[in-house]
Amino acid sequence: MSPRLFFFFDLDLTLTAAHTGGVAGARFDEEAQDYERDADGSLVVDVSREEAVGAFGSVENIRLVLDTLRSITDAGGVSFVVTRGVVGCATALLERAAAAAGRQEGGVVGDGKLVEAVLGAATDLEVQNPFGEAGERRLASAQERAHRVSTEMWAERKVELMEQVLRRFAAPNADAYFFDDTAANVREARRRGFENAVLVTEPLVGTVKGVRGALRLL
Ligand SMILES: [Mg+2]
Repeated sequence: MSPRLFFFFDLDLTLTAAHTGGVAGARFDEEAQDYERDADGSLVVDVSREEAVGAFGSVENIRLVLDTLRSITDAGGVSFVVTRGVVGCATALLERAAAAAGRQEGGVVGDGKLVEAVLGAATDLEVQNPFGEAGERRLASAQERAHRVSTEMWAERKVELMEQVLRRFAAPNADAYFFDDTAANVREARRRGFENAVLVTEPLVGTVKGVRGALRLL
């Protein structure tokens, strides 16, 4: 049966209480002044328990988030994390956090699990620019406001990633809930038909309350 309920969550300051910088657990090589990489160029990621718990603020907070995600699957829904951060880092952070809370049970990210998939940047380079050459041109023409352009591009990219998921299930954008603490992301999502895009003003707790409210309305 196809899910009828889609929840998309930003990671940093939406599901987490603190910002992870998008590269949680990525090992940095001081000598090379670059992240350590596997042969295929992907980051070597090793999230410590401390880092995972720190991102959520406490083990109790991790349980609160996992219980909230569980309430979505119990209601027949599916959850996705859609982050500007690196997918491998976000996934490792979520798994490490769940393990720290004693809730790993075969993992929390993957088909049929609490988080169906993490969508985001493939590499640390994509964190700054998700659109390759086209993105480089946009950044080059706006040097002094590069940060803002980067934020705008990610607002667009997040909508693209969510639309890809919804197309797979032939569901309209209006069927999805989207939680994000970045106003530009919520604005762009609303502009493109995500009526249930929610600006999170209280990290983690605001998201938990928002999901409860959404599930009550069903
Ligand atoms: Mg955020």
